[in-house]
Amino acid sequence: MSESEATKFLTGDVSVQGEVKTYFERIEEKKHLNAYVTLMHDEALQRAKDSDERRKKNKALPLDGLPIAVKDNFCTAGVLTTAGSKILGNFVPTYESFVTQKLLDAGAVFLGKTNMDEFGMGSSTEKSMHGPTINPNVRSDGTQVVPGGSSGGSAAAVAADLAVAAIGTDTGGSLRQPAAFCGVVGFKPSYGHCSRWGVIAYGSSLDQPGTITKSVADAAILLDVMIARDPKDSTSIDYEGPSLQSALNAGSKKFTVGIPEELAGLVSSQYLEYVWDRAKELCGKANIEIKPVSLPHIRYALPAYYIIALSEASSNLARYDGMRYGYSDQGANNLIERYERSRSAGFGEEVRRRILLGTYSLSSGYYDEYYLRATKVRRKIKEDFDAALQHVDAMIWPTAPTTAFAFGLDATDPLTMYLEDVFTVPINLAGVPAASIPIGVYDDGLPVGLQVVGARHRDADVIGIAHKIEKVADYVRPCTIG
Ligand code: GLN
Repeated sequence: MSESEATKFLTGDVSVQGEVKTYFERIEEKKHLNAYVTLMHDEALQRAKDSDERRKKNKALPLDGLPIAVKDNFCTAGVLTTAGSKILGNFVPTYESFVTQKLLDAGAVFLGKTNMDEFGMGSSTEKSMHGPTINPNVRSDGTQVVPGGSSGGSAAAVAADLAVAAIGTDTGGSLRQPAAFCGVVGFKPSYGHCSRWGVIAYGSSLDQPGTITKSVADAAILLDVMIARDPKDSTSIDYEGPSLQSALNAGSKKFTVGIPEELAGLVSSQYLEYVWDRAKELCGKANIEIKPVSLPHIRYALPAYYIIALSEASSNLARYDGMRYGYSDQGANNLIERYERSRSAGFGEEVRRRILLGTYSLSSGYYDEYYLRATKVRRKIKEDFDAALQHVDAMIWPTAPTTAFAFGLDATDPLTMYLEDVFTVPINLAGVPAASIPIGVYDDGLPVGLQVVGARHRDADVIGIAHKIEKVADYVRPCTIG
């Protein structure tokens, strides 16, 4: 779908209150998907009422009345925020994250908070204290599949029409991979364009807020509001490019995209062959030229990511000690025991595993061998991206090595899940922008995602190219949607 649902909503003669009520009815009907963990019923209806009044007076704000779903790691003032974790206890922030505040200032209506893997750690939205989210798309043999993760709640909500659009975060693929699994569009801006202030941290040098929408145009509409410099985030930077919406009208502009030669050797399968063939076919139709490029160090991206992200996580999550706030085990006899018991019961198994691995890589004696080496690899990867992107407007490659998988993939081996991130994490290491767009339906009846990967700060080119491909792909949702 390439037309903009947000534009229809914003320019149409709609009753925002009526629409918001309909969304809540549908959310109730599709409760089994477990896309939302907290509904913002009263706030949403009040804001919808205010919005209707503004719209009537022709004083509409840029996103006036737009029903949006918010991943549960954005702090929302007065609304329970869990990041999928028990350790936050009943945390109700007194403040609003920078990005959600921007959306509210533009008139958006938040329907509720969406499910996610605990602290963003996962690729399936199974690892949440709220239980798993279900992908509204069903495999043609009837198997239920995961929505991807960690922003699986946001992606499932958009795919099942439980919001016009959603926001989430992407540390190593958490917007793009769930978007691919659910058949919607995920957009991760260049690192630093959307402020991380008020977002519950996972890996701070990688985390980046972004969007999950039904079309590239909708992503541009939201991101034009969300992207802004924020003095409260020291890594926030000015975006100096053209507005993302203006990039939708690239018209006859001739784009060239690169396909990195090394990717075919990274993982190969029948599915990936299908994605490559389809991507080439679509570029041909969209009059986009393809050139080979090279990313010589890309095969080191996955291990480097899992060292850097976990090291940062172990440091970020040290603050949850059962003393200052959040879940606290009351049965302990002394301070150390309180820390141990609170952290053992408050964090899920995957988060505990990652804290241990991250702490190990940072510990003296291992730091040089793991963390330091991984940061050197990261630098090489960044340089590779910069060099490759000098010759092309963007690069393309599959979002994930498989379509959405069944529940319990990593029941016996956590590494199987980490491997699912092989195509998304290099982009976070390089800090560049990327979109995942649905380009078809595979033999198993599930959506296929393609990434468009741009140069740093050239988010507008990603929008322009993704929009062109989206138009010729003419993706239609499979009829197996549940
Ligand atoms: N699946 C990756 C991880 O578990 C990425 C998650 C994310 O982007 N938050 O680290």
